[in-house]
Amino acid sequence: MSSSNGTSWHQLDADDVYARLETDPDRGLPPGEVARRRDEYGPNAMPERRGPSALVRFLLQFHQPLIYILLAATLVTLFLQEYLDAAVIFGVVILNAVIGFLQETRAAQALEALAKTMTTQANVVRDGKREQLDSEDLVPGDVVLIQSGDRVPADLRVVHVRELQVDESALTGESLPVGKSTEPIDAETPLAERTNIAYSSALVTSGQGKGVVVGTGEETEVGRISEMISGAEDLATPLTRQIARFSHILLAIILVLAAATLVVGVLRGESWIDMFMAAVALSVGAIPEGLPAAITITLAIGVARMARRRAIIRKLPAVETLGSTTVICSDKTGTLTENQMTVQQVHTRGGRYEVRGGGYAPEGEIEPVEGSADVASDKGLRECLLAGLLANDSALESKDGQWLVRGDPTEGALITAAAKAGLSHSEVRQEYSRIDVIPFESDHKYMATLHAGESDSSRVVYVKGAVEAIAPRCREAINAAGEVEALEPDDIQADAEEMAARGLRVLAFARAEVSSETEHIDHEIVEKGLTFLGLQGMIDPPREEVISAIRECHAAGVQVKMITGDHALTAAAIAEQVGLDGKGRENAGGLPEVLTGRQLEEVSDDDLTRAVEDTTVFARVSPKQKLRLVRALQGNGHVVAMTGDGVNDGPALKQANIGVAMGITGTEVAQEAADMVLTDDNFASIEAAVEEGRGVFDNLTKFIVWTLPTNLGEGLLILVAVFLGITLPVLPLQVLWINMTTAVLLGLMLAFEPKEPDLMRRPPRGSHQAILTRELIGRIVLVGAILLIASFSMFQVALASGESLETARTVAINTFVLIEIFYLFNCRSLTVPMFRLGLFSNRWLLVGVAVMVVLQSLFTYAPLMNRLFATAPIGLREWGWILSFSVAAFVIVEIEKWLWRMVVSRKKRTAEGDGAQLSATN
Ligand code: ATP
Repeated sequence: MSSSNGTSWHQLDADDVYARLETDPDRGLPPGEVARRRDEYGPNAMPERRGPSALVRFLLQFHQPLIYILLAATLVTLFLQEYLDAAVIFGVVILNAVIGFLQETRAAQALEALAKTMTTQANVVRDGKREQLDSEDLVPGDVVLIQSGDRVPADLRVVHVRELQVDESALTGESLPVGKSTEPIDAETPLAERTNIAYSSALVTSGQGKGVVVGTGEETEVGRISEMISGAEDLATPLTRQIARFSHILLAIILVLAAATLVVGVLRGESWIDMFMAAVALSVGAIPEGLPAAITITLAIGVARMARRRAIIRKLPAVETLGSTTVICSDKTGTLTENQMTVQQVHTRGGRYEVRGGGYAPEGEIEPVEGSADVASDKGLRECLLAGLLANDSALESKDGQWLVRGDPTEGALITAAAKAGLSHSEVRQEYSRIDVIPFESDHKYMATLHAGESDSSRVVYVKGAVEAIAPRCREAINAAGEVEALEPDDIQADAEEMAARGLRVLAFARAEVSSETEHIDHEIVEKGLTFLGLQGMIDPPREEVISAIRECHAAGVQVKMITGDHALTAAAIAEQVGLDGKGRENAGGLPEVLTGRQLEEVSDDDLTRAVEDTTVFARVSPKQKLRLVRALQGNGHVVAMTGDGVNDGPALKQANIGVAMGITGTEVAQEAADMVLTDDNFASIEAAVEEGRGVFDNLTKFIVWTLPTNLGEGLLILVAVFLGITLPVLPLQVLWINMTTAVLLGLMLAFEPKEPDLMRRPPRGSHQAILTRELIGRIVLVGAILLIASFSMFQVALASGESLETARTVAINTFVLIEIFYLFNCRSLTVPMFRLGLFSNRWLLVGVAVMVVLQSLFTYAPLMNRLFATAPIGLREWGWILSFSVAAFVIVEIEKWLWRMVVSRKKRTAEGDGAQLSATN
């Protein structure tokens, strides 16, 4: 065998390719050969994508406005020969960079690892059998089948195509899908024009094909250029951007205040050195050093919590956006329902039949309803079931007594129904060999297969699909005696609607005779006219947990809309069963209004803006219309989460604020475009992710509200001292001690705060809403002022009572820290009284406080710390005062929270009163 690289595979014809790779187009490679080649060529994995080097990423950590200040402070203190201060400030800078670097690396790795858990699968023919395996296991010579929605798993020399189109934009930059063919082409043809090669990682946008693997892993074209595809995930989120803007403002304020400190002090005759140190203290005090780390850590905790609830985040900003979601647009099949299909009814011209038994086990009778023909004597019934078996790509298998579908559950149900009438899948498939196929796509909504017929003189096409796609093309039907009779397509529609109104998913079956020479079929065959065979109606029960998830969403002010490819009546019936009646906001009772794809086509953009608010169910929607719906909702100011699984759902998923792809049934294309992937395809997991997203944002806000008063208090303390001409109550080094230890041991513990019980009872946060509301800014100023007054007066009292400067400063610092500890408990909820949360519901916080108390005792009493930080032991009387201040601060904040609750509930009552008055006058 020649090696897989260096050969111009596109130039060879298919037989040459088989010969050189020693493989068989129908049987594939034998198992022994696979193992040998796997050893020789290694796994079919991409080399690691290289982002910026670790050093560059580390250096980038210093590229932040607030770090510039700290670097400047290092230089100033160096210049003043305050080496210890310089070392500690620089140490903090380094520590920050290290934490930032590690966090960023971990977050990127975690996202990558999560993405990797969803490996690409490949359909391969080996040893004459078709199997599905990890694309990593492919070797050169493997025969691979691809179809729309797949990612091409390796470089393939295409040997069979069926309207195969591939999106190779990642490789060639060509944004339109390109058609593939099998003919050999000139050796000199450039890469982008090699129509008989499907390149690894390209996406199949339509059709089907078969190819022989000619390059794996690094030997693929993408493998060679993989450096060009940047693997860098965007880790910036709306919140981090808001914080970055805030940092710039803070930088300006600090610079002005530091300059003012310097000028005022020097004008008053203080020494330059002292004033420089005061400016440095002010700067390091006002910077919230722990903030960036707290944000990344809280987001990372959010990602992990979501993964535990079966929602895999692919893009970090999604964690935050989820919290402000106002509308969830969900598929029906598999997301709101179980995707466990069972045929319950079959209608033919000969009669109506009830199919007994549940699940995929071929056990149960088919019973004619009164007045219908016998099962055995209705030839139309046999044909209808036969069509379901033949126009079918799936299979059933029994594992440990359980019957499972390999493939599409809709098709699985058809196999079971046929088996109940004694038609064996394997026998029928052998008898009627398949010659050609038009695969199912959501756009045309049917599937057709060409078979050798019973007589040699004809071939037959079996078609199955949505009733609307089949019925209008049927002019005749097969009756119970097997004869052709005339038919009104409207009769089929009426019949189907009756089944759909009961929530059944209805498929229509038809056939067409074609000449014995026919080798290929295309859409024309269906257009020409079909012979109707029958309808099969299957149930797909709603998922139990979805009902409560939808109720939760409604309570949380999140609308839920069903957007499905299925029939309007089926959709409405299921919607009602899962509690999606009324306007998708509350239970208004009755069947929900449905807008169909056809109606959507006629609605103007303006009307759609209104309709999209009032309608809960959209049926027979094409993927393109999904995109229009997302845009209309966004035009109304909504933050939209949209699910998708199909190959054409990509644009809608990208457009949605949160694109949600299905992990089990979703195509690679959909997963690629999504921000989040559900490992269980379940709607309830979206609701869980929204809840977690809200939790993350809530905890981040708590951290910010907790941390900023410290910086404000410290800044003011130094400013006041300088302006009043008093010795500095805290030194730069001491300020850094406070900021760093409390941020890590106290503030960060808020990230572990459990979700508040009313989290899903609040309305969604406005997407453009600032993190800090007026109320919270008020609280930050209040606590900042308390910190200032308490520490300043404690410092002055200590000095006045004859204590040393070191002791007075230690008193001031401990005042700061203890008030922060008490305030931490206030911050466990922004609105609810602290005692309602239960003292032990966040144990991490208690551990943090305990460690902080120990550290602070060392800071105050350990001789080494006293020397390092210029502190001194303080007495019990001082502790008594500090504790009193802290308790007072705690009580004041709780009272402030209570007052706000009063204001809010009065506002709500007034609004409700107005509403009631309004409806009374109406
Ligand atoms: P949802 O969009 O909620 O997942 P869906 O599965 O019904 O619902 P599509 O996959 O777009 O949406 O299918 C549209 C219609 O095409 C279905 O209602 C059904 O009538 C028909 N259909 C679905 N699967 C097949 C198939 N494998 N072969 C033929 N027709 C199918």
